[in-house]
Amino acid sequence: MANVRLEDIKRRFNNVTAIEDITFEIPDGEFWVLVGPSGCGKSTILRTIAGLETATSGKLFIGDRLVNNIPARQRDVAMVFQNYALYPHMSVAQNIGFGLQMRKVDRKIIQERVMNVARSLSLDHLLDRKPKQLSGGQQQRVALGRAIAREPQVFLLDEPLSNLDAQLRDDTRAELKQLHQELGITTIYVTHDQVEAMTLADKIVVLNRGRIQQIGDPQTIYASPANQMVASFLGSPPMNILPAIYQNNGFDVSGQLLAIPAVVKEKLQLHQGHSYDLGIRPEYIKINTDSERVEQQLSANSTQNSGLLSVEVKVVEPLGRETLIRAGLPGSAVMLNIQVGGDMRLRPGDRLSLQLDLNQLFVFDPKTGDRIL
Ligand code: ATP
Repeated sequence: MANVRLEDIKRRFNNVTAIEDITFEIPDGEFWVLVGPSGCGKSTILRTIAGLETATSGKLFIGDRLVNNIPARQRDVAMVFQNYALYPHMSVAQNIGFGLQMRKVDRKIIQERVMNVARSLSLDHLLDRKPKQLSGGQQQRVALGRAIAREPQVFLLDEPLSNLDAQLRDDTRAELKQLHQELGITTIYVTHDQVEAMTLADKIVVLNRGRIQQIGDPQTIYASPANQMVASFLGSPPMNILPAIYQNNGFDVSGQLLAIPAVVKEKLQLHQGHSYDLGIRPEYIKINTDSERVEQQLSANSTQNSGLLSVEVKVVEPLGRETLIRAGLPGSAVMLNIQVGGDMRLRPGDRLSLQLDLNQLFVFDPKTGDRIL
């Protein structure tokens, strides 16, 4: 096991800068997840750590060893890919033991280790099968087994669950987490799936356009995102972003005026006529059932209120325990995600009054996306 340290790593491909300013240190034994949209550079970072790419500049350490010029096979890392990359002509046992065989480990030791790994991954009854005789989930477990059997210092996993169907993905995700708890091997995991990032990680590194946006544990990143990109990327349904203008002592959101919460007034120097992006997570929006207030609001939309917004239901997505609603602000293209109880019957076209918990409001700079409150 080892810690992994990246110091100002940059990788250019001709005139494309894939990643830059990449600096972080993963302590020994932790599970870190690199997450971000397609093309943000997460695979390039992983491949650079693996030794499959060479950093254009910067330093990379595994343990105390500077490994920039050390070939992949001498880095003592094991990588698992999305497409499993199993040898089709070899049995499960041979696939799992392959790395050890290459290192000329004693046959008896290989047999023993393959058996142990197969048992821990519930593959022990499949050892004689060929990959094509296995399900996708089983194949991915063999790929994991091959990596584990090598007992590397670091695991590198590149979207290992993407090829699995939803149920299997959930199960394998939980197995992976348990496996990490048992083995305690430093693990770096790449995904574009924010659920995987939130559920697996000790620490998440959020990337966008080749740069780190934020590093933190899942709860901190969710509760305190550094910018609009991070805020919108983590969380399902995502945070609602409402473009607003500061005027008449309130936030004008498509013609509806929200009161400025005391905490915003205290901490932020707002400028008349300036634009701000307001962020609010779906769990802080409730449907207001006080019909008198709703009537008042609908008849006098521009009256400043404590946190009411009138919207029209556009899409209803029942999930059983809860229902997801996409609702539009009248006269604008702005849409909001709301979660309501599964027993609530709503239809497209219904008008709703929403109560926003203004104490949970984020304020972003619409030009830079930076969080200003
Ligand atoms: P995805 O989730 O789609 O796999 P990613 O976040 O892993 O994306 P990378 O594969 O690391 O992104 O790519 C980062 C950027 O570098 C992209 O703009 C990509 O087009 C570019 N890039 C990656 N490899 C090469 C290459 N060999 N030559 C040129 N550009 C490349």
